Amino acid sequence: MTAVTGEAVRTRARMIERLRGQGIRDENVLGAMEAIPRHHFVDAGLIYGAYDDSALPIGFQQTISQPFTVARMIEILHAGRELGKTLEIGAGCGYQAAVLSQVAVEVYAVERLRALLDRARENLRTLRLHNVRLKCADGTLGLPEAAPFDTIIVAAAGMSVPPALKEQLAPGGKLLIPLGGQEQRLRLIERQGSTFKESWCDTVRFVPLLTGIE
Ligand code: SAH
Repeated sequence: MTAVTGEAVRTRARMIERLRGQGIRDENVLGAMEAIPRHHFVDAGLIYGAYDDSALPIGFQQTISQPFTVARMIEILHAGRELGKTLEIGAGCGYQAAVLSQVAVEVYAVERLRALLDRARENLRTLRLHNVRLKCADGTLGLPEAAPFDTIIVAAAGMSVPPALKEQLAPGGKLLIPLGGQEQRLRLIERQGSTFKESWCDTVRFVPLLTGIE
C-alpha cells in the first residue's frame, strides 16, 4: 500500500465516523461513501484534504460537493425505497455519480461543461463503474431519451423546479433539487400517480443551475 493510499483509507474511515456523528444513519449510504475514493476525484494538490467536510475546487469555477451533502441527499432519496433508475444533473467530476452507482440500479449523469464531463468519464473509467452513463447535456431539460426516472438528483441550485424534471419522474419517483440564490434549501418532490407532493428539507449551498451547454 502506498503512503497516499494508506492515508486515504484512514481519512476515509474518519469521514464515515464524522458522517455518522452528523446524523447520517442509512448504512447503504455510508457503505457507498466508504466504497468510493473521493481523493481520486480531486487535483493532486488537494489530496490530503479530500476527506474533509468541504466542497473543493475542480476547475471551471465548479466544485466537488461536500461529503455530508452528498450523503444527506442520497439518504433523503433512499428513505423507504430503492433508488432504481437515477438521473443526476450536474455530474461535475463524477464523484456523486460514483457514490450513486453503489446504491442505484443504473445512473444517468448529465453535465453542461464538456471539459468537466471528459474528466468525469476518465475518473469513472479508472474505477470501473459500469452502471453509470454520462452525457453532455442541459439538465434543465432532463434526459427525455432515458425517461422516466425513479430518482432525479440535482447538484446545482435553480430558482424554480424545471417542469421537464417533474414530467420525467416515474410514478412513485422522487426528485430532490436545491432552490434559491444566496440562501438555498432542498425541495423534495414525490410523484404520486398524476399528483406531486412537495416539501422543504435542509439548507444547502450549491453553484447555480445554468442553461445550455459549453
Ligand atoms: N455532482 C458533483 C458536483 C457538481 S457541481 C460532485 O459529485 O461533486 C455542479 C455542476 O452542475 C457543475 O459542474 C455545473 O457545470 C453543472 N451544471 C450547472 N447547470 C447545469 C445544467 N443545466 N445541466 C447540467 N449540468 C449543470
